[in-house]
Amino acid sequence: NQLPLYASGEIVRGFGRGSKELGIPTANFPLEVVKSLPESLLTGVYYGWANVDSGPVHKMVLSVGWNPFYNNTEKSVETHMLHEFNCDLYGQLLKICIVGYLRPEKSFDSLEALITAIKADIEHAKAHLESPENKKLQEATFFAKNP
Ligand code: ADP
Ligand code: MG
Repeated sequence: NQLPLYASGEIVRGFGRGSKELGIPTANFPLEVVKSLPESLLTGVYYGWANVDSGPVHKMVLSVGWNPFYNNTEKSVETHMLHEFNCDLYGQLLKICIVGYLRPEKSFDSLEALITAIKADIEHAKAHLESPENKKLQEATFFAKNP
């Protein structure tokens, strides 16, 4: 078992595949960071903790998929934090702690079905992260400015 797994890197631009418009913006990691993760990390949806520029640590859901920009030869790792930011975060430092696995990647018949699934993922993430064991990870020194 490889979890919890920690990663950090600059937030870069993705495809802007409308996730912001759907109310589900995802902060994308650059390829180097994705490559630094274990190759055995399954694609799918995870939950965990994340912060930006060593600020408050928020709950998050994370998608690990195949990145069409690299002809699906490289993974993409996208973090949606369960927090409303009032500005863009591009160029800022994102730190994540991947705590648990929710489900494999799926394709959906409609945008509506996709959004429904993501909303369910978010509810599951919130619940799992309330367990004492998982909540402890929110305090990890990894998230501090000078760990
Ligand atoms: P992109 O394709 O460039 O990743 P998105 O539509 O996925 O565009 O939006 C992602 C951007 O939205 C992030 O890089 C970040 O700057 C911003 N953002 C705002 N709120 C959040 C949030 N709660 N979680 C993740 N990113 C957020
Ligand atoms: Mg994104």
